[in-house]
Amino acid sequence: MTTAAAPATGRRPHHRDRFDAVIAGGGPAGAAAAITLARAGRSVLLADAHTGPPKTSESLVPAARMLLHDLGIDPRELDRGHRPCHGVLSAWGSPHPQQVHFINDPHGHGWHLDRPAFDHLLRSHALARGALVAERTTVGRPARLPDGDWQVTLTATGARRTVRCRWLIDATGRRARIAVHCGAVRHRYDRLVAVHLRLAPDPRDGENRSLVESAPDGWWYTAPCHPTGRLVAYFTDSDLTPPALTTPEVFLDRLATAPHLAARAKGRPPHPGDVPRRCAAHTARLEPAAGEGWIAVGDAATAYDPVSSQGVLSALYTGKCAAEAVDAHLNGEHDATGRYTAQLHTTFDSYLAGHRAVHSWEERWSTHPFWQRRQHPRAPAAG
Ligand SMILES: Cc1cc2nc3c(=O)[nH]c(=O)nc-3n(C[C@H](O)[C@H](O)[C@H](O)COP(=O)(O)OP(=O)(O)OC[C@H]3O[C@@H](n4cnc5c(N)ncnc54)[C@H](O)[C@@H]3O)c2cc1C
Repeated sequence: MTTAAAPATGRRPHHRDRFDAVIAGGGPAGAAAAITLARAGRSVLLADAHTGPPKTSESLVPAARMLLHDLGIDPRELDRGHRPCHGVLSAWGSPHPQQVHFINDPHGHGWHLDRPAFDHLLRSHALARGALVAERTTVGRPARLPDGDWQVTLTATGARRTVRCRWLIDATGRRARIAVHCGAVRHRYDRLVAVHLRLAPDPRDGENRSLVESAPDGWWYTAPCHPTGRLVAYFTDSDLTPPALTTPEVFLDRLATAPHLAARAKGRPPHPGDVPRRCAAHTARLEPAAGEGWIAVGDAATAYDPVSSQGVLSALYTGKCAAEAVDAHLNGEHDATGRYTAQLHTTFDSYLAGHRAVHSWEERWSTHPFWQRRQHPRAPAAG
């Protein structure tokens, strides 16, 4: 793809300073939008700043196969470089783990993604379809020009250039930097954070199922990382996070209180040089998710609790749907973005209902703040 010295490359002879759409953010949402618009024959620039949170081992649900097909990607491409995910074990609401095995799933198995490799794969498909892909390039605050175009500054190491576009797609992740600049407001539903640590590789670790285990003040998660590593993560609210959870020793001591996780991690030292890292994992929604000449996708539009395992799927789906709406709008269908935002609302409302139901299954710690907050949720806060 591109280099810092030459922020954009591509194979189509698009005019290099004006695009139908500029997409800020090259995660799954931005890449899916770029693929969709490029396939529709639109000129599109996809810029990724490479500033996102460190990508943990994330699982992609089997249903994503259909979406990958729709994007023109053969799902078998993921069988190289990503471990299969054969299901989930869940000790949630009971000390005894229940199993959801993907052998019963009509789509087959899912994957434990190597996120940098997955994102790179998607961006290379965008490039192959004719999008310009600018790596390590930040999209700055946009300015609206009198003719309705946007003017945006692209900054790569040491190099700046200005381009124009008719549509801006915000795929910048949870912070929704572009949409917030355009006046949209983020609504946060909780203060969930993840503290995660990689364990040292172990070639004997052939367990391809994820494991979730609830705890009095949150829940634990473990999954394999490519090729033989293992990620362990603790999810809790920012105000409930033990302050000392910053060293591998304290983190592993705490992990020992979760018996199923502890069994998976037993005897595994931390990955050399790794320390526990903390990142945001809260549920959030953007209001509005589209405006005059801009539209938000993926986590920028709706960010889901990782317990749902829906984040990457939703990023791909909303990226594709928003790009279709932009294409339709450019063809004169001016209500297309309204249909997109209405669909987002419906999906998010059913997610919220499911989220509450899932947390109500855990009755052992109903008086603890973490579970109380989710079983009796309050109105979201702006910010
Ligand atoms: C701890 C944790 C565990 C998770 N586990 C799972 C899981 O198992 N399964 C699952 O499906 N989901 C999971 N998720 C959710 C998943 O990570 C997100 O839903 C998904 O990454 C959203 O994709 P996105 O493309 O919207 O945003 P991101 O992947 O966040 O990508 C945004 C991109 O925008 C770039 N960017 C930001 N600002 C700019 C700018 N101004 N200009 C240009 N580029 C910019 C960033 O560098 C980044 O690459 C998890 C999330 C967390 C926090």
